[in-house]
Amino acid sequence: MITLALSKGRIFDDTLPLLRAAGIEVLEDPEKSRKLIIATSRPGLRVVLVRASDVPTYVRHGGADLGVAGLDVLLEDRDDAGAALGGGGLYRPLDLQIACCRMSVATRADFDYAAAVRQGSRIRVATKYTHTARRHFASKGVHVDLIKLYGSMELAPLTGLADAIVDLVSTGSTLMANQLVEVEHILDVSSRLVVNPAALKLKREALRALIDAFEAAVVARA
Ligand code: ADP
Ligand code: MG
Repeated sequence: MITLALSKGRIFDDTLPLLRAAGIEVLEDPEKSRKLIIATSRPGLRVVLVRASDVPTYVRHGGADLGVAGLDVLLEDRDDAGAALGGGGLYRPLDLQIACCRMSVATRADFDYAAAVRQGSRIRVATKYTHTARRHFASKGVHVDLIKLYGSMELAPLTGLADAIVDLVSTGSTLMANQLVEVEHILDVSSRLVVNPAALKLKREALRALIDAFEAAVVARA
């Protein structure tokens, strides 16, 4: 049995067409069913639904053989933190080029970001992405007071909790609705296939075939 870890929402939705291109149908809609383990039309392949940030954990510890996780999540992942694009116990064969967005710094329009990030100054930044934010501001020589949040980061500059946020942006409409402006682009984010290295040895043929099918689907879409 091969177990693929996906998170509900955009990663699940964007992975479906790639699976479909490989001739694989997922046999239940996670928005309608409460099931956490879903069969597919391919015998021997099942999907498990986990929190986006739990995908690396499931795959690393063998709860799933492979999974799909955003680069944002992989860069925050405990064992992966230092290794920007490296392994951290996970084999990363493929950029699936789905769930694409960017990680950016945003502030209130009336905040002077340029002045705040002058060498040697201090800034208060609220974010879910503390590792990435810390690395980013360290590379600029800016002292940063990081405030860890788990959601609704847009609220932080509006309430005076922080000067800036580091968050994912795609269209920018959420920022705009909250009168925030994107002041710096940190990195481009897309979702990656991650594979458990031990599983790759033990189930080589089946996993290789699945990875190759994902790759063919990505190439076909590009
Ligand atoms: P959660 O709210 O549990 O983090 P999401 O579905 O919002 O789940 O995000 C899952 C992944 O999708 C993120 O880790 C990121 O890689 C990607 N993502 C998040 N926000 C956006 C966005 N606005 N546009 C495109 N991709 C996004
Ligand atoms: Mg979200």
